Amino acid sequence: MKLILLGAPGAGKGTQGALIAKRYGVTRISTGDLLRDAVRRGTPLGLKAKAFMDAGELVPDDLILDLMREILTDEESTHAGFILDGFPRTRPQAEGLDELLAEIERPLDAVVVLEVEDDVLVKRISGRRACPECGAVYNVYFEPPSTEGRCDQCGAALVERADDTAETVRRRLAVYRENTEPLIEYYRSSTTPVHMIDGDRDVEAVFRDVEEALER
Ligand code: AMP
Repeated sequence: MKLILLGAPGAGKGTQGALIAKRYGVTRISTGDLLRDAVRRGTPLGLKAKAFMDAGELVPDDLILDLMREILTDEESTHAGFILDGFPRTRPQAEGLDELLAEIERPLDAVVVLEVEDDVLVKRISGRRACPECGAVYNVYFEPPSTEGRCDQCGAALVERADDTAETVRRRLAVYRENTEPLIEYYRSSTTPVHMIDGDRDVEAVFRDVEEALER
């Protein structure tokens, strides 16, 4: 299975991507996670990407396409299939991906779009807190930890992602509407099926719809 997961920041791509990866035994590839890791390690890519990420802007297409080429041409890690979370985000990235997949002869099976209204997205993202020790994720509005600011699982102090502040969130949503949402039309006019899923429900209900769409 080779999929693209589209949706605004906070639509649940990370959560659903992880469930899909587990269910179908495919690799989840999140450009956001890869970039955050590069920033943490201080690699050349991380050094170039950091300022864009902190401002809620997109990292330049050529950097992202080089990164994705490296990953998708590595057959070992993607041979069972992949789910792309957070890529492509612009028209040149989508065109670059088409070329790359044609080259390695691995066409896409489907595009899954998670739809969520802006006011819900803002609460989901600005309420998000993560545990730096064990990776558990909470939301101060929807899933607060039992002790404020502390991880239920390991007790570490929870942190907010640097780009999850209210101002950056508004910018990330605007960037999504302007650059990424038009890709829904791009894929609709291709031969790849596009599945629109209502993402404003609990995790299990959303995942049931995703499964149903993929197995239809
Ligand atoms: P995410 O975790 O997917 O929300 O990504 C966090 C940030 O990483 C985004 O706001 C961008 O700055 C950057 N980023 C992630 N994926 C891409 C991409 N495909 N193209 C450009 N920038 C990206």
